[in-house]
Amino acid sequence: MSTLTVSVVTPDGPVLEDGFEMVSCKAENGELGILPGHIPMVAPLTISSVRLKLESDTRQLAVSGGFLEVRPDKVTILAQAAEDPASIDVQRAEEAKQRAEQRLQAKQDDIDFRRAELALKRAMNRLDIAR
Ligand code: ATP
Repeated sequence: MSTLTVSVVTPDGPVLEDGFEMVSCKAENGELGILPGHIPMVAPLTISSVRLKLESDTRQLAVSGGFLEVRPDKVTILAQAAEDPASIDVQRAEEAKQRAEQRLQAKQDDIDFRRAELALKRAMNRLDIAR
């Protein structure tokens, strides 16, 4: 089966660049499944998991939003953060989740509420993917 090159880049540097048969991810307006030869497009990603399929193997990455750029032979993901399950620190994510939950309970202004909501999503996404 043909493959496309998938490149995942964060502000800390490249996370992954390899060939895969299919990329599944969650854009802001729905799930996307990308195969080689896909029409070019750009889409914003949600805080979610990216699945990369090659033969019988599927790799997963936790991404903290960002953008997906698709070309027929290449998918580039630019994300603020991207981790594979093995590099997720579960304890840290648990602590981030608790902090965010406490902030959401303490009624503060809207900006803090939105920040806490996003922090909670990132933590829950990491916990889902690490387990
Ligand atoms: P925290 O409050 O624990 O910093 P956060 O969601 O605010 O969590 P981010 O701003 O998304 O953290 O990420 C900052 C950097 O830390 C990124 O490089 C990200 O990959 C890394 N990171 C954050 N949480 C974890 C985790 N639980 N395990 C591994 N790396 C993490």
